[in-house]
Amino acid sequence: MVASSVLGFPRIGANREVKKAVEAYWAGKISADELTKAAADVKKTSWTSLKERGVALIPSGDFSLYDHVLDHSAAFNVIPKRYLGHNLSPLDVYFAMGRGRQADGVDVPASEMKKWFDSNYHFVVPEFAEDTEFKLNFNKALEEYNEAKALGVVTRPVVLGPVSFLALGKAAKEAKPGFEPISLLPKVLPVYKQLLADLKAAGAEWVQIDEPVLVLDSAAYLEKQYISAYEELVPASPKILLATYYGRLDSNLSFVAKLPVAGLHIDLDRAPKQLDEVIAAVKPTPIVLSLGIVSGRNIWKADLQAGIALGQKAVSVLGQERVIAATSSSLLHTPVTLAAENKLTAAQKDWFSFALEKASEVFVLAATLSGSQDANVASALAANRESIAKRREFERTSDDAVRKRVASITPDMLNRKSPFTVRKAVQAKYLDLPKFPTTTIGSFPQTKEIRAARAKLNKKEITQAEYEDFIKKEIEYVVRFQERIGLDLLVHGEPERNDMVQYFGEQLEGFVFTQNGWVQSYGSRYVRPPIIVSDVIRPGPMTVKWSSYAQSLTQKPMKGMLTGPVTILNWSFPRADVSRELQCMQLALALRDEVVDLEKAGIKAVQVDEPALREGLPLRKADWEPYLKWALPSFKLATAGVTDSLQTHSHFCYSDFDDIFPSIQALDADVISIEASKSDMKLLKTFKQYGYSNQIGPGVYDIHSPRVPGEQEIKDRVAAMLEILPDELLFVNPDCGLKTRGWKETEASLVNLVNAARWARQTH
Ligand code: GLN
Ligand code: ZN
Repeated sequence: MVASSVLGFPRIGANREVKKAVEAYWAGKISADELTKAAADVKKTSWTSLKERGVALIPSGDFSLYDHVLDHSAAFNVIPKRYLGHNLSPLDVYFAMGRGRQADGVDVPASEMKKWFDSNYHFVVPEFAEDTEFKLNFNKALEEYNEAKALGVVTRPVVLGPVSFLALGKAAKEAKPGFEPISLLPKVLPVYKQLLADLKAAGAEWVQIDEPVLVLDSAAYLEKQYISAYEELVPASPKILLATYYGRLDSNLSFVAKLPVAGLHIDLDRAPKQLDEVIAAVKPTPIVLSLGIVSGRNIWKADLQAGIALGQKAVSVLGQERVIAATSSSLLHTPVTLAAENKLTAAQKDWFSFALEKASEVFVLAATLSGSQDANVASALAANRESIAKRREFERTSDDAVRKRVASITPDMLNRKSPFTVRKAVQAKYLDLPKFPTTTIGSFPQTKEIRAARAKLNKKEITQAEYEDFIKKEIEYVVRFQERIGLDLLVHGEPERNDMVQYFGEQLEGFVFTQNGWVQSYGSRYVRPPIIVSDVIRPGPMTVKWSSYAQSLTQKPMKGMLTGPVTILNWSFPRADVSRELQCMQLALALRDEVVDLEKAGIKAVQVDEPALREGLPLRKADWEPYLKWALPSFKLATAGVTDSLQTHSHFCYSDFDDIFPSIQALDADVISIEASKSDMKLLKTFKQYGYSNQIGPGVYDIHSPRVPGEQEIKDRVAAMLEILPDELLFVNPDCGLKTRGWKETEASLVNLVNAARWARQTH
């Protein structure tokens, strides 16, 4: 029989129960026990509903209160010293690592977060040093395995593999130069052995060990480590299913197929072409092949006929017992269930599958591949065929005007009229900013009141006019606040935006929205990505009204605020029937029209955020060129329709610039702001080394945590930046937007920031 499997499940709860419980715990409103209970309820629902849907191999150990990599670090005792010795409970140490802690005399910043592969999920980066002492503080896989078992659900526990764990980490500050976390492999393996042996003793038949690093180019240098790790772990462990996802194994397959593991999972959603070579490579071995057919990354109903064809290829060579039908990756990136959506039309709803519906898809796939004659399976297949046919029919309708406009984009539409140095002089006069101008990244706190007003509008408890009055008051508050504390380049604060992507999706044609389609971005921050279903057009201005209102309140220059084409694309669920390039160019044209309209309305600076440019980079270097060939022009297309006097800004939320540096330069934004407060000065050195020529605002403090940076701390940062960057290029700003912060810490932090910039003007 072909077994069905799900690699991981959303851990937020169908109604965001985990967010609510975790935030209530942080606020001191519930106890640790109540938090544990809330988490247990969510896990129970996930396990039992997967079982009800007929999934044979159900994951456990994949739940998390914050982040699964952080769980792993805490479990393996990879806890930086700065979080210890404050008399905190292990749970509070854990949250302090994730989000920092500033209370009762404790003041520690959060650990660095990074994007998880090419997704919009962030993980907390483990920090290793020569003296890292691994020990098993707790065994989450075992605890959850037992927890599920007590509920009558037999699971396949999930563990992050040792090589990926180390390779995804970084050297701690105190580590010696040249220290590589992977050198700790011999030290960490005994702890893994213990973890796995405990699972085996508890009766687990299988364990899923995730090694997503295997789809990266860099894994080629880790062959020896992979071999030694798995040779050592296999004898102590339940049967190991080695899980790879988000990409293809490529040349790494040559050693992966020789590992002594019992199973191998491959991603056929992202990399369907690898199937034949993987089948050939595992054929002479006893390895069971898990086929990642049902996408863990999108929300489209799977085409089961196509999936069955893939599955049959494997079954015909390996036999049913050696094939598993699975999701391509964890379903962490998809919302929990379509069941709660009642605003989508029936026709629209029929296009999609969320996590629970995907679970049924793997069940039907596995049953069909096993030769099931069950009437329910047959009718599910027939219904799927019909749904797919209807969607194909809808997809054939396209908008001729926008298709033609994309086809006639010319190279001169991609470039500003004059080079940066010329623009810089024009803009200096036009904007009249002081040296080391201070600005923010766009959003100000999205308070309870703002969210309540939006909820009321959605429930029609207030009129559109009442809502807009409310938003205007918010904007006025934000403008006066910025004037009062002395910021130079102002923003309107984005109070009208539910989300930086959803807001634009709602203004554009071609998108549909869910009511409850939340996915985790980091910690307790979830997003609700819009879904692109057809060609994108801008029926009218999207932000001009708000930016011009804000500008009308002040003499200081106002910066318009847009989300870039690549980011809108990446943080939406894209269509699967046309290329990402086409979707991105359509978005870019819509934004271009918006930027031109903002300039016409008297706005002097416009920021087009592209925080997702980098995460959209394909995981394999060989695929970069084709991506950058449209991703970079799309930004330029969006921003180059204006005169020299308009100052274009762009913002990136990451600090890993080494490898995409030339691309950032090629965007030719007048000013970029980047995340820099947590990455030391390494990043600026990169900019200097490459001779970055445009203006740049490296974030001077981390906004992902409520901690307030001291004035001296910011001065020190600014001073260190000025050691590296020329004076005339530096802007002073936070790392990112302030929407997740409260007003209290926002005010305290920004006052310190403004003072630090004033100090720099006097001393430099
Ligand atoms: N302008 C957006 C904001 O300030 C940028 C957010 C982001 O980069 N993630 O919220
Ligand atoms: Zn950002």
